[in-house]
Amino acid sequence: MTQPAHHGLPAHEVVLLLETDPHCGLSDGEAHERLERFGPNTLPVAARASLVRRALRQFHHPLIYVLLVAGVITAGLHEFVDSTVIFGVVVVNAVVGFVQESKAEAALEGLRSMVRTLAKVVRGGLQRTVPSEDLVPGDLVLLESGDKVPADLRLVRTTELRVNESALTGESAPVHKDVVALPQTTPVADRRNMVFSGTLVTAGHGAGIAVSTGGETELGEIHRLVGAAETLSTPLTAKLAWFSKALTVGILALAAVTFAAGVLRRQDAVETFTAAIALAVGAIPEGLPAAVTITLAIGVARMAKRRAVIRRLPAVETLGSTTVICTDKTGTLTENQMTVQVIWTPDAEVEVTGTGYAPAGALHGPDGAPIPIKATAALRWSLVVGACCNDAALTHDDGSWQVVGDPTEGAMLVVAVKAGLNLAQLAEGMPRVATIPFSSERQYMATLHQDGTDYLVLAKGAVERMLELCGTQMGADGEVGPLDRAAVLRAADSLTARGLRVLAAGVRGASGPDEFNEAVFAGSLAFTGLQAMLDPPRAAAAPAVAACHTAGIAVKMITGDHAGTATAIAAQLGLFDHGEPTADAVLRGTDLATLGADDYPDAVREAKVFARVTPAQKLRLVQALQARGHVVAMTGDGVNDAPALRQANIGVAMGRSGTEVAKDAADMVLTDDDFATIEAAVEEGRAVFDNLTKFITWTLPTNIGEGLVILAAIAVGAELPILPTQILWINMTTAIALGLMLAFEPKEAGIMTRPPRDPEHPLLSRGLVTRILLVSSLLVAAAWWLFEWELGNGATVSAARTAALNLFVVVEAFYLFSCRSLTRSALRIGLFSNRWIILGVTVQAMAQLAITYLPAMNTVFDTAPIGIPAWARIFTVATVVTLVVALDKLLRRVWLAHRS
Ligand code: ATP
Repeated sequence: MTQPAHHGLPAHEVVLLLETDPHCGLSDGEAHERLERFGPNTLPVAARASLVRRALRQFHHPLIYVLLVAGVITAGLHEFVDSTVIFGVVVVNAVVGFVQESKAEAALEGLRSMVRTLAKVVRGGLQRTVPSEDLVPGDLVLLESGDKVPADLRLVRTTELRVNESALTGESAPVHKDVVALPQTTPVADRRNMVFSGTLVTAGHGAGIAVSTGGETELGEIHRLVGAAETLSTPLTAKLAWFSKALTVGILALAAVTFAAGVLRRQDAVETFTAAIALAVGAIPEGLPAAVTITLAIGVARMAKRRAVIRRLPAVETLGSTTVICTDKTGTLTENQMTVQVIWTPDAEVEVTGTGYAPAGALHGPDGAPIPIKATAALRWSLVVGACCNDAALTHDDGSWQVVGDPTEGAMLVVAVKAGLNLAQLAEGMPRVATIPFSSERQYMATLHQDGTDYLVLAKGAVERMLELCGTQMGADGEVGPLDRAAVLRAADSLTARGLRVLAAGVRGASGPDEFNEAVFAGSLAFTGLQAMLDPPRAAAAPAVAACHTAGIAVKMITGDHAGTATAIAAQLGLFDHGEPTADAVLRGTDLATLGADDYPDAVREAKVFARVTPAQKLRLVQALQARGHVVAMTGDGVNDAPALRQANIGVAMGRSGTEVAKDAADMVLTDDDFATIEAAVEEGRAVFDNLTKFITWTLPTNIGEGLVILAAIAVGAELPILPTQILWINMTTAIALGLMLAFEPKEAGIMTRPPRDPEHPLLSRGLVTRILLVSSLLVAAAWWLFEWELGNGATVSAARTAALNLFVVVEAFYLFSCRSLTRSALRIGLFSNRWIILGVTVQAMAQLAITYLPAMNTVFDTAPIGIPAWARIFTVATVVTLVVALDKLLRRVWLAHRS
């Protein structure tokens, strides 16, 4: 079927074509039926590389090529045991790689479904929010600023609608939309009467009929063309991949030299060749990239469990280095459950009882005497403006009262009902005819109402802003007089100092809709009063702020709210250094605007609270902090926060209250909007980095040790203490059974009591490099000594090698426990606190018993059973090596303690 060109038809024809209704939308039944017919509104999952291809990809690695060539050559030389072992290693490696990759992908896949996109539709005449997967062609979809367009829509109504279509066209300037039919041949980028799935609404609102969904949309088309290219790559994995490639090349060269040297010394060519291969295989840390990926994936899963959903993998790494968290106040540090507590008018102050959204409570004076709504005209008008200049709704479902919409507005509805106003009657008596919606930049909202044959402009918003719009104030009897700005500001200050959010209200008559324009009514509204509401801090916020401070992370509050309210809440949360704000701890948006470029970064660094900040200023704040070397996590929820979220090292969006635009720009989404979750994610980020470092510290000495043993033996022309096939065995079994278990290591205690990691700092500090060299030299010396001792004391070569092989593995197992903490002693962290390690060690022990005592294994690997005394020597030597490592750790701890 060819797609009808919806942009070429007038809106009413599109409505007919799709058998829908431009006002009531589809019926529920019809929507359900169409969902069955057209399928869900999701992009077709990019055909995942087929199983075979993904399996084959595991062999696409320089090291594997080397092994495969070696396997073929050894088979050609009739060294079938060796070639079988080599092929065995290749297969096991591929299987492990395959399983890990699939797990990591599944973990990331799972995350995607945690952040769901919702769409506003009208069905059966009722507005509702549905998951965007459930949209069907014919649905009437409502759009407003901040929404992500959920399907391709033919617009039927628009008000100042602007859409950023860069996802589709690459053009980032917002496009103005309207409903006028266009010529059939209009190209996609110019179809102004259509909006396309995946694009973002940056301003205004509108409604449209879904004409195509899922894979049929323009986005679906592009998706089909390019396929989804999700990678598991981060700066760190890229660096490590490069490191292991370079290492592979270096080691191969070394192996070639070893082989050449052996041949020149007229040693057996086949033996030298396999030894050179063993050197290569032993020395290359082939498990490294896989271990990094799996550690990151486990980190992502742990963060998701704590309600922080990672959208871009590099964020996992960056989180651990965060030095500043810039957070919103409303909803993140506070509950966003507003209750109006005080109403102030020029001639009265009224207290309101009751908390929450249930309209149970009353108005009374300071003396406790009830105050009727009619007590003064200013009081009544303040409540009427609050109730009518309002887009929220108060609902009563299943016995509980709820607010649909903005909690600030919800609180104003609740207090109006408490005062005795009938919301439905009000809306009927004064129908709204136009709206100037609230925005963080505008800081007020205004509505135009019809009042008989006249019109009324009602406005509410931030106090300073409303004082600009008002020229007079209303008295007790409804008369207007000169505005006493100073008195209003004094009242507002005393209310905000109590941590209350204060909004002002104003009203004005108008002769017609043309007067509903800021240029016309600015300065001429009559101020009626203030409403002050409480938004209690979240219970978990203060402890989380304290935890951040202990972890060396500064917390800054960035809010659109009044400085007084913000300061009071910040003090309750412990944001200030010594409990009380100092002179430079609070900056206002206006202060920021006047600061010179030189003073700006320092002022920003000192301040803890930024009040009345506009989204545009947030971007500059992030940049200033970054210029001072900070790694910044920044929260945001609105459309205009997107640039700051992108600029921040970690952009954090709110899963519940945030707009789709903000989520799109963010690296991490908090599914509970709670500040404490950011702190939890930072903690997990630190743990991920620790575990990576632990794995590397464990794996490198093994590799270096194995390489060195072979290299030394060939160099001095001595008997090999360990055979190539045995090295392959060690590498293969320990990497899986022992090393990988470090990825499951729980967080160390005290992870949040040390300063953030410097991102410039190399992964391995000098101390760790020394430890790696120490352990590898000890490993080589111990294995060599034991091998010679066993030989000298009458053991066969096979038995002596078996002893050396077991020593290698036992030392690695002991060292694994040491690597569980980079600084603390292995005993302090509890030997059994990671069950995975116990499991791994048990499996490894059984494998060692098998290779030592099973006749079949003896034949394949050239090993021989060894006696109890040999085991005693192995464990003694391993214990000595472990004690030396423990001593190194202890000395380092003492040195560090001494230095600080
Ligand atoms: P944060 O940035 O911490 O989320 P915020 O919610 O206070 O804080 P904005 O939403 O930008 O920030 O609000 C700024 C100011 O605008 C508020 O302090 C309040 O005075 C006023 N305001 C908030 N919501 C409304 C609204 N719905 N209608 C009118 N004015 C509002």
